[in-house]
Amino acid sequence: MMPNLGLALQIPSPLEEIFDPLWSKKGIRMWVKREDLIHPQVSGNKWRKLKYNIAQMSKTGKKGILTFGGAYSNHIYATAAAGHFLTFETIGIIRGEPVLPLNETLDFAQSAGMRLEYVSRSRYREKEGLIATYRERFPDFYVLPEGGTNELALPGCAEVMTELQLQMPTPPDVVCLACGTGGTMAGLIAAHPAPTQIRGFSVLKGDFHTKDIRRLLRQAHIAPTVDWQVHTDYHFGGYAKTSPALTTFIADFYQRHQIRLERIYTAKMMYGVMDLMTKGAFEAGTNIVVIHTGGLRL
Ligand SMILES: *Cc1c(COP(=O)(O)O)cnc(C)c1O
Repeated sequence: MMPNLGLALQIPSPLEEIFDPLWSKKGIRMWVKREDLIHPQVSGNKWRKLKYNIAQMSKTGKKGILTFGGAYSNHIYATAAAGHFLTFETIGIIRGEPVLPLNETLDFAQSAGMRLEYVSRSRYREKEGLIATYRERFPDFYVLPEGGTNELALPGCAEVMTELQLQMPTPPDVVCLACGTGGTMAGLIAAHPAPTQIRGFSVLKGDFHTKDIRRLLRQAHIAPTVDWQVHTDYHFGGYAKTSPALTTFIADFYQRHQIRLERIYTAKMMYGVMDLMTKGAFEAGTNIVVIHTGGLRL
């Protein structure tokens, strides 16, 4: 059993159908899996990835989680909140130099009880060495890689598919989601039953996702049975970069569907889905589920 002291989670996360002539005209249906509503501070895919890692931390008798992230990391935020609510200790190793006053993410993390340490960007890049160093320095902490992405992140993310199976009359044909590290996508690929197709939308420049996702699946001994691909042309200039078109898109989407998107992940993904839709990438009769991975910090 998961410890669940003060953490009131909305699980299963709601599934909402959204309507627009853009797709209903084509005989396509679209649902949003509202992972953003799981918890106000431990939102979306961050909870899914933490779940079995927290269980493993308890099982191995560690007193807390030590993890890594940038100064704006949703994962740092969620881990600090989970530690606060479930009463385990947290240490956040933050990329770059300390900046005062703390930004909103780090200020929240610290007030939730997370101990913050900083590491230079060049050292941060040496991921394996970095992890080894902190394992040695903090032997009674469970060390979790950046973004919470590791083998144990996969089964938690796969549960999204289990929920969809119960929430829909037939499994979706296509599942769409935003990709940062690709951990969430790897978990969906590993799920049983899987949808026919999974489409990831990279929010960063570069095409490392396919390789990273393959490596994660290999480590977890999973041979994918679904057709999956990562779209690399919807990053809007790179991580956390935005544009007036994206800002307008977010406002317009909210007006049409009363669902808030954030500019780093979910807006880019949804923009990509709409763009593919306009270009006729989905056949008539397709049932699409888009995953709202959260990140809104309500
Ligand atoms: C972290 C995050 C992602 C990316 O998840 P990965 O598993 O790293 O690909 C997507 N959406 C939101 C809202 C996030 O906070």
